Amino acid sequence: MRVAGASNVGRVRSTNEDAYIVEPGFGLFAVLDGMGGANAGDVASQLARDTIRSFVLERHGTMPAAALLDAAFQAASSAVCAAAQASQERHGMGTTAVACLFEGPKRAVIAHVGDSRAYLLRDGMVQILTRDHTVVEELVNRGMLTPDEAARHAYKNVLSRNIGARPEARVDVRELDLQGGDRLLLCSDGLYGYAALESLQYVLGSGDAPESVTRDLIELALRGGGGDNVTAIVIETAQVLPSATQVVRTRGAIAWWQRRNRFIATATDAGLPRNPIVRGLDPHEALDLVALSLCQAVFHDLEKSTGVNVWTFAQNLAGGWFDRGGGWFELRAMLDIFGQCARSVLDEIRASDHHLGYLLDVAVTRALVVAELAIGGMLAEQLREVDANLISLQAADDTEDGVDAPRDSAERFGERPTIPVMRVDRPVTSSNEPIEVLSAIERTMAVARARTPPRADLVKRALTAIEAMVVESAGNYAIAVIAARDLYGVRSVDDAGVTPLFEALEQTWAITTASINQLQTQPLTKARALRVISTAHQQLCVAVTGLVLEAAAPYSARLQDVRAVTAQLREEVERVEQRRATLERKIADAIDPNLPWGSRGTTEW
Ligand code: CA
Repeated sequence: MRVAGASNVGRVRSTNEDAYIVEPGFGLFAVLDGMGGANAGDVASQLARDTIRSFVLERHGTMPAAALLDAAFQAASSAVCAAAQASQERHGMGTTAVACLFEGPKRAVIAHVGDSRAYLLRDGMVQILTRDHTVVEELVNRGMLTPDEAARHAYKNVLSRNIGARPEARVDVRELDLQGGDRLLLCSDGLYGYAALESLQYVLGSGDAPESVTRDLIELALRGGGGDNVTAIVIETAQVLPSATQVVRTRGAIAWWQRRNRFIATATDAGLPRNPIVRGLDPHEALDLVALSLCQAVFHDLEKSTGVNVWTFAQNLAGGWFDRGGGWFELRAMLDIFGQCARSVLDEIRASDHHLGYLLDVAVTRALVVAELAIGGMLAEQLREVDANLISLQAADDTEDGVDAPRDSAERFGERPTIPVMRVDRPVTSSNEPIEVLSAIERTMAVARARTPPRADLVKRALTAIEAMVVESAGNYAIAVIAARDLYGVRSVDDAGVTPLFEALEQTWAITTASINQLQTQPLTKARALRVISTAHQQLCVAVTGLVLEAAAPYSARLQDVRAVTAQLREEVERVEQRRATLERKIADAIDPNLPWGSRGTTEW
């Protein structure tokens, strides 16, 4: 659950008579709006706030939420009423209160007295949960006024009930079942009195974090005149798995697994058994060990909505191959075959079930991204080792006097068996996407930015890069390279290597997928938006890996150079040693020809 609350004095008043409670640990939230002359309003709202809070916190869990909240309101009313009677100045003070108490992650109780309100945002639509306790509202309910007349009525702000007028309060209590992603808004009339319902709905449904939604709501009231104190609390219930994810986990995973024969047939046609990675294996064995294993890893990841199986598979495959001295061309070729296999399965599923095909496309694209990232991460790890070797060899080299490294090293890092060059099979283009998909992409990126930790600079830059790629309607690979260059920056050999970059790319992926789930949008729109973002993300990984490859080449050439120099030095030292030994023998012979050389060992000179 995410929650934020804020209060503002407004543009007209000098004191803030609103008060609020935000106690996420107890699931208690409330907004109170005090009234009464001589600043008694803030006394009333604060006293009621403190009473309700301590009443609920002390008895939390000892009785049903509805009864607890009602009793807390009674206690507040009694306390405010007593305080009002104790002082002439405070006579007649009172307060509204609207409170929400969670009974579980998906169940809440709303209680209110007066005209502070609770709203629910569900599926992008806002609805009001409370009925104002005002005189005109009562008249509307009795059919004596139309809602329009009520809105313009001179006494529209006169309350028919409040906390403090009497020792006991008449509280309206309702219970509410919540869904994942629902948002609750508690507010004083200083908000809804100065902002249109449509604009409340828009801001509340923006998908932004509650902190920024609360800030924007208050800004809305201030722009609308800010004639009253304004207080708002935004509560977002825990995200449950969206139905699209459920579909993928169940029907999607099964549909995928049912077509494993198609996957393997495509792998056979594409020549997987001939790939050197599986050389020496019987073709059936090769297909089982590699194609079927990946197909199964994707299946398990679909079932559990994770990427861990594909990640492990890719690492094992690449790790084993590299350990055997394998090259990256073969690995690249195999990854491309996997891509073809996945597409043939997805085409088949899409032909029979358009929606499911789309949803699975996203999930499987994710699996392929995971595989690329896993291998990219291994590359980065190896590059870091190369960096470290280079640094130590460079240091050793520097201590030797004035020996210049030869510049014509034959072997370059790019030809070494470690680099998977990634390739994307689909162009990044959003030009054919409908407007709602583009809007979903835009909102996702906005939410993702809001969710990025303040100091995660690389993640922020990766998001910017992806955004630049998805909004570019012409969408071509050059944009990915430009974006990757910006992200990669100019890196020298340093302690960190490029691993943080791949970690940031991974984190970027996690943040964007989490953000898109927050949108109040059709699952299919989400799926299509995520597909565009996924493809852009994949392309960015490819471009970054390409740059790593490019950047690694001179380092590794230098590493080879240094190794060659070291070998050369060793030979020279050996030759010098031999010359010295010869010289020693000659001198020793000259000094004492009677001593047989060899029995004296080396001579100190
Ligand atoms: Ca007010």
